Amino acid sequence: MNAQTTAASPSFQRRVFIYLNSIKTKLIVSFLLITLTPLIYISYVMLRNASDGLLNVIVNNSLAHARKASIDLNRFVAHQLDIIQLLRRSEAALDRNGAILETLIKEHDLRHLSIEKIYIIDETEQITGVSNANPVRHQIDFGEAAGLLQQRRYLLLSSTGGDGRNSVALLSMLTDRNGINYALLVMELNLLQLASIIAENVVGNSTRVYLLDESNRVVLSYPENVQDKDTVVMSAKIAENEYGVFAIDGAGLEKPQLSSFLPVVGLGWKVLLIQDQQEVYSLVNTFQYNLYWILFLTITVAVVIALIISQNIALPILQVTRGANELAAGRYDVRINVANTDEVGQLASNFNFMADSLAGKIEELKVAYDELQIRANTIENSNIQLDRKVFEIGLLYQIGSSMGEIGLDLEKLLDVIIDKAIEAANAQRGSLMLIDDNQEMLELKRVRIWDEASGQPVPVHDFKSNINIRPGEGIAGKVLQSGQMLTINDPDNHPDFKQYEGERNRVAQLCCVPLKVKNVTFGVINIVNRKDGHDFEKRDTDLLQTMTNQAALVLDNTKLFKLAITDGLTDLFLVRHFRNKLNEEIKRGRRYQKIFSIIFFDIDHFKKFNDTYGHQIGDEVLKQVSVLFKHSLREDIDMPARYGGEEMIALLPETDAQGALVVAERLRLSIANHGFTGSEEPLHVTVSLGIAEFPRHGMEALELIRKADTALYECKKKGRNQSSIYSDDMGVVSEK
Ligand code: GH3
Ligand code: MG
Ligand code: MG
Repeated sequence: MNAQTTAASPSFQRRVFIYLNSIKTKLIVSFLLITLTPLIYISYVMLRNASDGLLNVIVNNSLAHARKASIDLNRFVAHQLDIIQLLRRSEAALDRNGAILETLIKEHDLRHLSIEKIYIIDETEQITGVSNANPVRHQIDFGEAAGLLQQRRYLLLSSTGGDGRNSVALLSMLTDRNGINYALLVMELNLLQLASIIAENVVGNSTRVYLLDESNRVVLSYPENVQDKDTVVMSAKIAENEYGVFAIDGAGLEKPQLSSFLPVVGLGWKVLLIQDQQEVYSLVNTFQYNLYWILFLTITVAVVIALIISQNIALPILQVTRGANELAAGRYDVRINVANTDEVGQLASNFNFMADSLAGKIEELKVAYDELQIRANTIENSNIQLDRKVFEIGLLYQIGSSMGEIGLDLEKLLDVIIDKAIEAANAQRGSLMLIDDNQEMLELKRVRIWDEASGQPVPVHDFKSNINIRPGEGIAGKVLQSGQMLTINDPDNHPDFKQYEGERNRVAQLCCVPLKVKNVTFGVINIVNRKDGHDFEKRDTDLLQTMTNQAALVLDNTKLFKLAITDGLTDLFLVRHFRNKLNEEIKRGRRYQKIFSIIFFDIDHFKKFNDTYGHQIGDEVLKQVSVLFKHSLREDIDMPARYGGEEMIALLPETDAQGALVVAERLRLSIANHGFTGSEEPLHVTVSLGIAEFPRHGMEALELIRKADTALYECKKKGRNQSSIYSDDMGVVSEK
């Protein structure tokens, strides 16, 4: 479930991680790595090496063009020379036959479009034999030309004609059969033709080509009228005839240029070819540009292929993953739509198969689990019942043993009974009522409330002890009358129930249990409000009834036993019971070397008191003396008893004679100072007390009693209203 909720709204980092970790991303990266790594390496090598190589090629290419232009020019001029040679060697030329020579010249001019004009200049600088009507463009000095022609067979001249147009002429000497030079044969060349030869060798848009004559004059430029800044920049190289390829820059140039400077072999002319470096390099740039395009296309193709493949692989895997997640979250009916037949498709099929068998197993497990649950519930119920029984038995045992420990103390017994009843019923509070001595009505004896802090019931002392309930009155009265337990879980709707004492003491559930022995009900226990607010159930009331029955029995037995051992008038123990206890104490004293004392006392002149005030008032005095007697002793430790008549005795364990004397004196004074009621005016009596100590004064019960009596007699002798410890000089005078 957790995984799902986090998957529903993953953080940004987690989303990035999921995306980077996806098969799609991995495939794209792999494809890019596989395709781009060699490509980039190749591009790098090519760009680095090929650029240099390309540059070489380009430079050589440029040179080759210049060279080709020079060769073509050479060839062109050579061809014209052939014509000149033919005319020179002709019969007409050798014979100085001007008319035939002119015919020949005109014939050639017709055939050769590359020739502008052919004519002859004689020694008198007369022009004859002109091939066509176009103006002559050259001012040729015969003598000068003849001088130059002494070293070579022909001469190439360039000059600007009168109309400002450039012109090139081939000059050769005409010689007659006698070997005498008599005229110049001039052939003006067609510059357009020359220019077209040059143009054939031009590549690129920025290329300029210049044809320079021997004196470095620009004869021809292509394109026409191009600025001759180029020749200015190259002037140094041109002047020095330094041929080759040069990268030139600066000197007023707009851009860097690449220049090829070569001679036209055999003519003494030169070809200058100049081009923008940028244009040259644009080839390299084009190469780079194409390379980038290839890279871009490769990346695009790689990504597209990766996406297609990932769509084919990753999507089904994603489906399997989602299916597995849903399966893990407990949706066993999840299945994957199997579209592929490849390994991923098999994976999906296997997943579906696994989900099928898992769903089956889960169903089996559910059935088994339900069965187990039923069994566990049964066992749990049994355990709860067993626990309850163990608790009940334990509680009953506790009640039994604590009642045993308390012995005859009826008051304490009542405390234990109400406490244990509250505990047994898991209740908030409870009360105990006993029937009065006249067997007429119930008297409230105990109210206890559960104290959460101490974990036990605590007494409530300020209850109204005068609440008396007659048989048949209210719920408790009904229980007293019928002797049947009553459980009321809805007291507001019960006709016999009355809420009182305010909201704090509101009764929500009530259970009244009779205390009865042999079908005689002598009390009622009221248990109020379960601590958990639930109704009292049968098991609660059953337990209450069981323990109440036990308590009733103990109470009844205790009452009977007490009757058997106590004196009816004084409520002191009878002398028979006292002797038993005295003998037990002697045994204990002997075994554990313990001492104890007895105090024996007798009311002074009681015969006379009776005679004076009557026997009934005498009885009342006896009762009140018993109360004073009990109060002067340690409760539950010392044991007071009526010895007989107006004689009383007490056993004081672990008390020596001196200690007993202190007690005796206190008792004597309290009696002497007491105003006894029963008559119109307070009456007064005194007592005489004798003390004996075990084992100092005797090791036997009778001996000790006698010695205490002797000490008492000694007091009587000495005038009464006094105490004394036995001493041997008293002599045993007792008749006891
Ligand atoms: P003293 O002990 O001081 O020597 O004089 P006494 O008058 O008390 O003499 P004694 O002890 O011999 O007398 C006992 C008298 O106590 C006898 C009887 O009148 C009275 N007595 C004994 N038992 C009871 C009793 O249960 N009720 C009443 N009212 N008197 C009793
Ligand atoms: Mg007496
Ligand atoms: Mg007496």
